[in-house]
Amino acid sequence: MRATVMFGAGDVRIENVPDARLVEPTDAVVRVSRAAICGSDLWPYATLERSETSRRMGHEAIGVVEAVGADVRTMNVGDLVVMPFAFSDGTCIFCHEGLQTSCVHGGFFGTPDVDGAQAEAVRVPQADGTLFVLPVGEDDALMPSLLTLTDVMGTGHHAAVTAEVGPGKTVAVVGDGAVGLCGVIAARRLGAERIIILGRHPDRIALAREFGATDVVSKRGEEAMERVRELTDGFGVHSVLECVGLEQSTLTAIAIARPGGAVGRVGVPQDETMPASLPAFYNNVTVGGGPAPVRAYIEELLSDVLEGRIEPGRVFDRVVGIEGVPDGYRAMNDREAIKVMVQP
Ligand SMILES: [Zn+2]
Repeated sequence: MRATVMFGAGDVRIENVPDARLVEPTDAVVRVSRAAICGSDLWPYATLERSETSRRMGHEAIGVVEAVGADVRTMNVGDLVVMPFAFSDGTCIFCHEGLQTSCVHGGFFGTPDVDGAQAEAVRVPQADGTLFVLPVGEDDALMPSLLTLTDVMGTGHHAAVTAEVGPGKTVAVVGDGAVGLCGVIAARRLGAERIIILGRHPDRIALAREFGATDVVSKRGEEAMERVRELTDGFGVHSVLECVGLEQSTLTAIAIARPGGAVGRVGVPQDETMPASLPAFYNNVTVGGGPAPVRAYIEELLSDVLEGRIEPGRVFDRVVGIEGVPDGYRAMNDREAIKVMVQP
């Protein structure tokens, strides 16, 4: 089968690889009908050192179950399923607490242990706990929005939940990538009164406004912080969704939270240490977040997608076939595309 392999920074190729197959009795094999390229795939695309071992990429997919292991109980061959970016057993203490990304038998797709999903098919460990069977068919026009439930919509929602967004609150979203845009949707969905997006790409800002952003701050650094304070009577916002992961964006996120506010971090941190420890401390700002347990959120978000109340699939502004994946990486890296959907 054909699959996406990264050999080093800037070097993504489509290769022939052995077909995905069942290994454990708890596995399923899923034929991928839609996959996606993630903003987090761009970090290795920029920095991965060339080595002996190449990396099989991709952690977002919707597909059709092609085979199930002997112990799989909750799905059948032919079911259409959503595959969250992390696999989880659904039964351990953390899964029961809704934190599937810390599952004691869990892990992540597109790692040395489990192959990626930017491919014609993918092996899914812990199929019963991981996959969610969809009540719609494969050609459904809702596919792009359903695909965001594998990562970006669930991640934006997690940022909003950990930032304690609620009715009447003022919210800031740092970052105008696909996760930030989904964070705007999530903040509005949870009842935020005012949503300030910090970003500088005109096409993304326009989409953010359609998703519910009420104010735009296109400055960076100190100027951005100053502008947010101006918009909020000098106090800052109740809730900040940090959707980038860089030192500057994290610093900004903490600086624009008002005393007693909360920051939800979902941008993968690119630094070992966290900035703005002193303002976070003196302002009693709660800093939370981490890898989103998107599996926990699928059911809650699904009905809004199916009934058309939210349209996160609009973040996809380009579709490629499997052979077009390398150019999809380039387009996202050059900020030519917000997010690329793969139709193998
Ligand atoms: Zn678990």
